[in-house]
Amino acid sequence: MTGSVFGAASTPVLSFFALLLGLTFGSFSSVLVARVPSRKSLWTRSECTSCGEQIKSSENIPVLSYLLLRGKCSNCQAPISAIYPALELITSGLFLAGVLMFHTWTSLALWLILITIGVPLAVIDLTLHRLPDRLTAPLFGLSAVVIVADAFVEKHFDRLIPSLIGSLALPAFYLALLIISRGGMGMGDVKLSAGIGLVSGFFGVRITLVSCFAAYILGSVIGIGLMLAGKAGRKTAIPFGPFMLVGQAIALVVAAHSAL
Ligand SMILES: [Zn+2]
Repeated sequence: MTGSVFGAASTPVLSFFALLLGLTFGSFSSVLVARVPSRKSLWTRSECTSCGEQIKSSENIPVLSYLLLRGKCSNCQAPISAIYPALELITSGLFLAGVLMFHTWTSLALWLILITIGVPLAVIDLTLHRLPDRLTAPLFGLSAVVIVADAFVEKHFDRLIPSLIGSLALPAFYLALLIISRGGMGMGDVKLSAGIGLVSGFFGVRITLVSCFAAYILGSVIGIGLMLAGKAGRKTAIPFGPFMLVGQAIALVVAAHSAL
């Protein structure tokens, strides 16, 4: 199978649309990174973190505003973190990749949900070592809606059973790891794994294993790399959430490109 959900003919237009949509959702990801850890509302206008001045709509255009403002608040000249335009660009690129890689609406929807919530989750876990429920719960809930809708439309209710098993077995496994490792993992990882098991289980046990092994291998390689580079010791806590999320992204791609 080649081409996207939309067919080859419409690819250039849809690629452009995916990039724009990705920039918009990336902008939303920035809001999630800035506000979820401090439990602020997501639906009020953005303010400068330095002077508190409300950001004008004309200064809230993804990437472009950052460049036009030269990375500084127009009111107080305080620097704006480059992480925000970076998130917008990364999300945009991953949205485009999704449109080009996936052949079914279900896979594409699951990918877009994973990117929109997973990218800010990874950033928050890397910077604050937390995986807030306010993000892991919607990742689970939105994915569940897509999976159940797909089961009804495609009439393959049989796939809901491994999905349900995955959403229970993976957290049980990570909970056991958490107890054994005594602090190597957190409850956030256990909760995140419920959504990961739900989606990968929907594609079968093999895809669940791909997701877990990819996370484990990536985590080990980067962990060892950081130790060799002298940037981490044996006791440095390296957050595992980002690896689980990347592992899941790899699993979705593998699932889409292997015969089910
Ligand atoms: Zn300011």
